[in-house]
This record gives sequence, structure tokens and C-alpha cells, in this order.
Amino acid sequence: MPFDLQSRLAARHADHLYRQRPLLEAPQGPAVVVDGKPLLQFCSNDYLGLANHPEVIAAMQQGAANWGVGGGASHLVIGHSTPHHQLEEALAEFTGRPRALLFSTGYMANLAAVTALAGQGDTVLEDRLNHASLLDAGLLSGARFSRYLHNDATSLAKRLEKASGNTLVVTDGVFSMDGDLADLPALCAEAKRHGAWVMVDDAHGFGPLGANGGGIVEHFGLGIDEVPVLVGTLGKAFGTAGAFVAGSEELIETLIQFARPYIYTTSQPPAVACATLKSLQLLRRENWRREHLAALIARFRQGAVDIGLTLVDSPTPIQPILVGSSARAMKLSAALRERGCLVGAIRPPTVPAGTARLRVTFSASHTEAQVEQLLDILAECWNRMAEEPEADA
Ligand SMILES: *Cc1c(COP(=O)(O)O)cnc(C)c1O
Repeated sequence: MPFDLQSRLAARHADHLYRQRPLLEAPQGPAVVVDGKPLLQFCSNDYLGLANHPEVIAAMQQGAANWGVGGGASHLVIGHSTPHHQLEEALAEFTGRPRALLFSTGYMANLAAVTALAGQGDTVLEDRLNHASLLDAGLLSGARFSRYLHNDATSLAKRLEKASGNTLVVTDGVFSMDGDLADLPALCAEAKRHGAWVMVDDAHGFGPLGANGGGIVEHFGLGIDEVPVLVGTLGKAFGTAGAFVAGSEELIETLIQFARPYIYTTSQPPAVACATLKSLQLLRRENWRREHLAALIARFRQGAVDIGLTLVDSPTPIQPILVGSSARAMKLSAALRERGCLVGAIRPPTVPAGTARLRVTFSASHTEAQVEQLLDILAECWNRMAEEPEADA
């Protein structure tokens, strides 16, 4: 039977779920040009404003001059170069773990860690709202795989009772769509009681959270005993690309020996590692970025409440506005865009049905005036939409 792609695509349109890629015609930053139009954007993950930082750019240029542009081979063959190695040592020191292993993407780091640790006969337990890469990793592992209620240690405990083999509990640190924090103290205590390991993917916590940007484990003061498998990504607050897994000597050697997404892929360009070494310095040292970001978030939350918007209990740069149907989310985001503000509309299946939202994100490179501008435009669009009957739920 031939593939009927046309009707699949048509159904996607009819469901208001069709996705389009906005064409970015400027470097990452608050003021961008998208599809030929100047816009103020509140949707990147460049939380500390390092993606287009002159010192990080210079480090990458120098790295390319010294090391060329391509990794050239996989890490186990001849692609593991000095900048990769230095970055791993710096990330181990940063996270307070004995070792760290560098990956080209967070998606691959997650596939690698879960599949190398758990297999047939084991158990992988994940938060229902985990990032897609973690859920895919759980399925790919071949372990018994089950999802507990969001951030619910009681629901986790019920599943831990029935777990067999080695058990891995996997959670986002900061949940990528809602911006809320995993209740790690409770989840880790439950895992410990049952002899399970905890793996935290803190893609959105490193940088904004913790006194030194050390993410959710620094925020809660949790060490390697509570969180033996710690994942961070480098394409968000670090402003570059790639990811890492930090943990014990044995964990990292296990990944190097057994993790197929680590073994069978070319190393990232060494110049990217040079750039990340610089952005790691800035991320740790420049506390003003975290402080400014926190002030912007507080201002936005107060302003949003004044408008009557429904927010999520999030202390992070991810500030979703709950809207309801996909159609309404699309309409509001289109109205904002018409007035010069770009905000992502997040719809099912990325989030549960009926909880479509605008996902507003902030960066240390935003000014307070830009946040005021967003609030003004939001108020105008929201009030206008409230006056109209909902044509399409
Ligand atoms: C973005 C993200 C990833 C994927 O990282 P990439 O480096 O972009 O592949 C993994 N986990 C979470 C929670 C993320 O938000």
C-alpha cells in the first residue's frame, strides 16, 4: 500500500497542529528578524544571553583556527581532541562529579545514558512530562518502562514497589514545557528507599538555577549519592551546542564502553568545545546575568497576574501562559506576532490535550523595557480575544 502522506498532513492542518519553522534571519538575541520582519522574541532557550557573546564567538574562532572545523572521527577512533578533553574536565569540576562525558546533543546523551544503564529485565520509571528524548530512551532501552504522575513521589513509590532488576528513575530537573522544578528531595528519598538510581536531565536548570549556575542539584544541595546520573545540555544557557553526562568514574567508563549513541557518532567540532569552555566561565562568574534574569521573571509574573493571565508555578525563565485549545493558542500567538512579539505556541502532542499554551521564555539579554512592551501587547491581545466568542474549541 502506498504511503498516504497527503491525508496525514491534511489532518494535521485540520487539527490546528501543523508546524512551521520560522526563518531566523539574524543572530540569536531579543531583537531578531524572522521571515523578513523585525520582531522581539521571547522563545529562545538562550537564558543567559551567551549564544551571541563576543568572547564566546572569539573562542570559537580561535578554536577553529587552532583545531580546524571538523571532529574528524568518533571519540573512540581519533576524534577525541584536547578541547573535548579539557571541557570534560571543566564540566566535572563544575558539577562536583569525578568525571563528565561530552556528547554532540542532549537527545543523544539521554539515549546513551538510559540505554547503557538499563536493558531487558530492568525497570525505567519516568515522569509523565519528561522531555521526549528521555521517553524515547526509556522505550529504546528494552527495560520495563512506566511513567509516574507528574512530580509525584507517591506515584513513583507505587511503581518502585513493583520494579524488578536494576531500576532507574528519570526526571527533567526543570520541566521544559512548564518551567516547574522536579521535587528532587522527595523523589531521591523514594528512590533511595528502594535502591534505585536517579538520573536528572537538567537542560533548563544549568545556568539560571543555583548560586553558581550549577542547576537544580546546586539549588537543592544534592550530591552524587542522591543523583548519580546528571545530564546537562549546552545548547541552552551555555549558548553553544552539545551535552554532557556527569557522574562516577565507573558510570563514565560504562558509557564509553557500552553506549551506542556515544560510540557510533562523530565527535562535535573541537571549536564548539573551545566556545563552551569560555561560556562555562561566563556562566559561573557573571552572577549579574542570573540576577537580572530573576528580576525580569518577577516583573513579568506580576504584570501577567495584573492582566488576569493563568501562569504556572514556575521560578525559572520558562513562563507558560495557559490558553486551552490549540486554536486559541495559535490565535493569541498570531496576534502577538502581528504586534511585533514572537512567542511560541505549544500544542498537543507536546503538551496534554486542552493545555495548549504560550511558552514565554526570558533571557538575561532582555531589557526591562522589552518585558514591559511584551506585557502591554499581551494585555491588548488578551482583552481583545476575551471579547470574542471562541469559534473553535
Ligand atoms: C533541549 C532538551 C534536550 C535535548 O537537548 P539537545 O542538545 O537540544 O538535543 C534534552 N532534554 C531536555 C529536558 C531538553 O529541554
